[in-house]
Amino acid sequence: MPVGTQGTVKGLTPAELQAAGTQILLANTYHLMLRPGSALIREQGGLHRFMAWDGPILTDSGGYQVLSLKELVRVREEGVHFRSHLDGSSEFLSPERSMEVQADLGSDIAVTLDHAVPLPADPETQRDAGERTLRWTERSLRHGRTLVTPEGREQLLFAIVQGGGDPDLRAEMAERTVALEGDGFAVGGLSVGETKEETWALARATTQVLPLDRPRYLMGMGTPLDLLDGIACGLDLFDCVLPTRNARNGMAFTTAGPINIRNAEHARSKEPLDAACGCEACVRYTRAYLRHLHLAGEILAHRMLTLHNVTFYQTLMAKARRAIDEGRFSSYAREFSEHYRERSGGPPASA
Ligand SMILES: [Zn+2]
Repeated sequence: MPVGTQGTVKGLTPAELQAAGTQILLANTYHLMLRPGSALIREQGGLHRFMAWDGPILTDSGGYQVLSLKELVRVREEGVHFRSHLDGSSEFLSPERSMEVQADLGSDIAVTLDHAVPLPADPETQRDAGERTLRWTERSLRHGRTLVTPEGREQLLFAIVQGGGDPDLRAEMAERTVALEGDGFAVGGLSVGETKEETWALARATTQVLPLDRPRYLMGMGTPLDLLDGIACGLDLFDCVLPTRNARNGMAFTTAGPINIRNAEHARSKEPLDAACGCEACVRYTRAYLRHLHLAGEILAHRMLTLHNVTFYQTLMAKARRAIDEGRFSSYAREFSEHYRERSGGPPASA
């Protein structure tokens, strides 16, 4: 899922997103509840009509953004008190409120409110946040089942599994979350300070317990290699700002690894960003031209790199789906990672 923070994937129209192979978008509850407000979006007929996207939309619960505000956040049993980053006004997000905002937005998939903790954290804090997440999940699901979207539809409700950095706690939390009957499950609170190896061990501890007939969504992680590792752990659905945010900083993902279009080596290049890609940026323009546009601060550079990166991610996933259907996912993933090099400076900046 490309991320449409403010009800738009920055720089791309719905038609361009579709042409890039996008099946579903993520929109941020936190940002949209503060501006323009979820009542206004309900009045406008819901987010699909408001942003002119007729494909599926998943909304997050808003909890992650609120908790990352750090300052002026108070977590209480009833919910989270915080101050808006826009005007400093006092705001409140509870499980019930989050589900109401998401129903107003009219997303197809709404996500329960959870309490994630940065790692490392002491066992007591992790247990405490996990137990609170379970109580909030129950409240979110109970209230969410009573709501309808502006189009009069019920939403699919995904429950988030927490459990911190302890695989046993993860497995326990997964089991108890499954008992609460979500339509799908999300794995939250990963990539928050632990090593990659630990991340996948924690993801596996969770997915091993989740039912096979419900989608599993890994929240907020996604270099191309992360997506393939995540699929290997049994995860189905991903969101990440990397392809769109990094595009605006001049980074393009290619089958040989990420490149930065600002680099002098591209100044005279007559090559496309990625010869294997069929997007408009790659079919029409050279690296030299896109570099020039980027350095001149032209909007078209941001748009074309974003279009390319979204296309690259969607193509990666479409190929993964085909490989799974044909029973050759492991060899597909191995082949991709053999060609894909994350250059010096390590992996692209994290989400
Ligand atoms: Zn392309």
